[in-house]
Amino acid sequence: MSIYLDNNATTQIDPRVIEAMTPFFGQVYGNASSIHKFGIKASFGVEYARNLISSKINALPEEVYFTSGGTEANNWALKGVFISNRVKGNHIIVSSIEHPSIMEVAFWLTKNNAEITYLPVNKMGFVDINDVNKAIKKNTILVSIMHCNNEVGTIEPIEEVAELCHKKNIIFHSDACQSFTKVDIDVRKHNINLLSLNAHKIHGPKGCGALYIKKGTMIEPFMHGGGQENGKRAGTYNTPAIVGFGKAVEISTENDNNHIRMLRDYFISEMQSRIDSVTIFGATGDYRICNNINFSISGVPGKKLFIELDKRNIHVSTGSACTSNELKPSHVITAMGFGEKEAHGSIRIGLSKWNTKEEIDIVIANICQIINEFRT
Ligand SMILES: *Cc1c(COP(=O)(O)O)cnc(C)c1O
Repeated sequence: MSIYLDNNATTQIDPRVIEAMTPFFGQVYGNASSIHKFGIKASFGVEYARNLISSKINALPEEVYFTSGGTEANNWALKGVFISNRVKGNHIIVSSIEHPSIMEVAFWLTKNNAEITYLPVNKMGFVDINDVNKAIKKNTILVSIMHCNNEVGTIEPIEEVAELCHKKNIIFHSDACQSFTKVDIDVRKHNINLLSLNAHKIHGPKGCGALYIKKGTMIEPFMHGGGQENGKRAGTYNTPAIVGFGKAVEISTENDNNHIRMLRDYFISEMQSRIDSVTIFGATGDYRICNNINFSISGVPGKKLFIELDKRNIHVSTGSACTSNELKPSHVITAMGFGEKEAHGSIRIGLSKWNTKEEIDIVIANICQIINEFRT
């Protein structure tokens, strides 16, 4: 038996999602852009999913554009806005704790004459709205701040940042790949221009996501080719995955989130009462996504704990999934003001609706055992 606690990296697909996808691999194989009955049947699946996803964020269906995932949505947001707004300026503001699919794009854009400001965060990982305000200049075209951090779970005040950008006529983008269906977001109410989403963090299929684009936002198309997605994102529809994405959104519930939150708080309180010198990274309570815990234990290297847990079939993460094979310390935890040593030692736990209190007890017992062996 194994205990999977790496749900910030990816989740297990829900059987109901597989069931919804299956016909679209087989019988309903038409090209969703074809106008014969076979194509139309496939397009119904796509449009049904688009409706589910758009209503979840209070967008119009035609404001949701399907992509190959969160990485593509983030690439599109930054590169598309940069190309489209060259006349206005070349300055982009991002936080210093973004996912690599924002960080690396921002870095690449500097080689193409972009000017990037990386906003600092405090010890809990929060961006300060005053820092955003101070960083805005005449040539600022875009502010991109993630809704919820994938390593430490901190929920950023993106509503306020979006309102500020709206007032100053600057495009605001947020990477919501972690928060989608877990933290409510109303793109219309808060004047958010662009929002990145994906399916595989919410028990949907991998390789599928979406970019919400508010009507009127200046952004260049990303893929050129056939006229799919209003000519903004060409390529034959990945119909089964899109249908699965919609299903994953449809079956997400507040009850699941409450269950996950209860497990998170239980895990943290057990750790703090049974192990000494535990540091929890990130925000607390309602300011933290319900499924994430990130901690280090003084004197116990994260890599060691990770390997020992893996041997016991308990699967967690060191730092973020994308950087766990590298020896670099987490850019998120160092940006929060911690030393390299603390950044190296951190373990990330990502819970899902399928984890149980019994599993948490087993994990805590194993962590205690590993620490005792290590310390003696
Ligand atoms: C997973 C993730 C991504 C990347 O999404 P993919 O669909 O895997 O390309 C981007 N941003 C955040 C915050 C994520 O957690």
